Amino acid sequence: MSRSVFITGGNRGIGLAIARAFAAAGDSVAITYRSGEPPVGFLAVKCDITDPEQVEQAYKEIEEKQGPVEVLVANAGVTRDQLLLRMSEEDFSTVIDANLTGTFRVVKRACKGMLRARKGRVVVISSAVALRGETGQANYAASKAGLVGFSRSLARELGSRGITVNVVAPGLTDTAMSGAVAEERRAEMLNQIPLGRIGQPDEIAAAVRFLASDDAAYITGAVLPVDGGAAMGH
Ligand code: NDP
Repeated sequence: MSRSVFITGGNRGIGLAIARAFAAAGDSVAITYRSGEPPVGFLAVKCDITDPEQVEQAYKEIEEKQGPVEVLVANAGVTRDQLLLRMSEEDFSTVIDANLTGTFRVVKRACKGMLRARKGRVVVISSAVALRGETGQANYAASKAGLVGFSRSLARELGSRGITVNVVAPGLTDTAMSGAVAEERRAEMLNQIPLGRIGQPDEIAAAVRFLASDDAAYITGAVLPVDGGAAMGH
């Protein structure tokens, strides 16, 4: 049965792979974009998740055009990498605002409808960095670790209402975000991956689809690493 799926940052990278995977399975898929031309084949809503009004508008448009959101994938995220002593207040707050507060805002709004329906699936995209930390990413790691506590709290709060909340923690994945990592650092990161290669966006999408499927009905509050083993043991 076709579901109403919403993916923040579904216009490119991992989010686009996730959007394609749900669409290929027959779901109705809405995505956000902030500028330029969004990819075709989805309900594209212009929305910056750091702006509460734009988030509200996006939900109204999605509810009107494809129905209340039944599956939310909170995927949008940014980096502002910098060593601690060079990290500005703005570098820190920009990342927290988008990755953590933006996700809170988007999830909260989706849960309104899910609570009414007494069912729903929320999948939050964190990172292997949330668990193992990373030089130059104190802001990003804090935001992504925050998402784990956030999601697990919601798993407890919403479980009795038929809503599951799970986290996918990707490792180094082949997108513009990882492309921005310096060559030398990238080589070091690759060295720490037991499977010895970078992940593909489709491989993250497969895990997200699983957590939103009937097969995952008894899974909530889980953190599923999709990282080639990079953060194993953390
Ligand atoms: P990209 O940089 O390729 O894409 C980021 C996406 O997030 C874009 O769609 C972007 O939209 C959107 N976005 C960022 N800020 C906002 C905002 N304020 N409002 C709305 N949309 C926003 O990154 P990836 O695809 O690689 O990353 C996707 C997710 O996966 C992120 O949460 C990231 O932290 C996480 N991740 C990525 C890893 C990697 O190695 N690539 C590893 C671990 C986790 P726009 O096009 O408008 O900029």
